[in-house]
Amino acid sequence: MNETTIKTKHPRAESLSIRKRLIQHYKSGIVADAGLFAHGRGEAFDYLLGEKTGDNALKAIKAAAAMLLNAEHPVISVNGNAAALVGKDIVELAQVTKSKIEVNLFYRSTKREIAIETLLSEAGAGKVLGVGKAASGRIHEIGSERRRVDPEGILVADVVMVPLEDGDRTEALAKMKKNVIAVDLNPLSRTAQFATVTIVDNIVRAMPALVRIAQKLKNEDRSRLQAIIADFSNKESLSEAIRLINRRLSQLAEKGTYLTPSQKGWT
Ligand code: ATP
Ligand code: MG
Repeated sequence: MNETTIKTKHPRAESLSIRKRLIQHYKSGIVADAGLFAHGRGEAFDYLLGEKTGDNALKAIKAAAAMLLNAEHPVISVNGNAAALVGKDIVELAQVTKSKIEVNLFYRSTKREIAIETLLSEAGAGKVLGVGKAASGRIHEIGSERRRVDPEGILVADVVMVPLEDGDRTEALAKMKKNVIAVDLNPLSRTAQFATVTIVDNIVRAMPALVRIAQKLKNEDRSRLQAIIADFSNKESLSEAIRLINRRLSQLAEKGTYLTPSQKGWT
């Protein structure tokens, strides 16, 4: 697939071009091999969700924007997949919400850290935390290399945004009483369940929406931001995402087809 162009009429054109981008960044050393599998798990849920941002995800995005804007020390944690898919949006979100950006990887290597730092710098980032010796802090509750954090970043953060996360770290950050914002297409994952705000959506759609909504909310006063946060229930939001999948599957089961007639004529 890497050398071929993707036909725009293909029903999965968008999804295929995202795969292509991930493969390119896998080859450039930004995405870990396990990152490709993780993406596949996400894609399967996106299929079930109808590959669009639902009202429920939008509500979570609004709560996440309010939470970042209301925070004292917000940090956006970046791994290989997030950098590859939405590096530019991460930089914009950090600027709008005055968040720090920190590299935090399950499969750490200085080479990968620097490759991600370079990608983010080219996308306009200021200082990128967590690279090399800067990750000198430790979160002992975490078993993996993800325990290594920057003392200026995740260690002291009150809100940590962890797009595409692993469950262990989300649980540990939540136990440390940090507010955790996750983007995860799987409403059943431990990440989704442990986060304070889970955006059940594809990161390629969720991040631009988050930037847009943060821009709209950035001049609101604190009481309004706090009201938006208080109005959000992650438990209810996850239930709604599961109901959405349920409804879609029931409707599809009735119709017996997923493709529209024009898609069936696709060659
Ligand atoms: P957990 O560790 O949270 O229990 P898991 O072990 O099932 O989750 P992992 O392989 O650790 O899953 O992490 C991959 C997660 O990232 C999956 O839950 C998947 O839904 C999600 N994911 C992958 N790609 C995307 C994407 N593009 N947008 C949103 N979520 C994604
Ligand atoms: Mg996992």
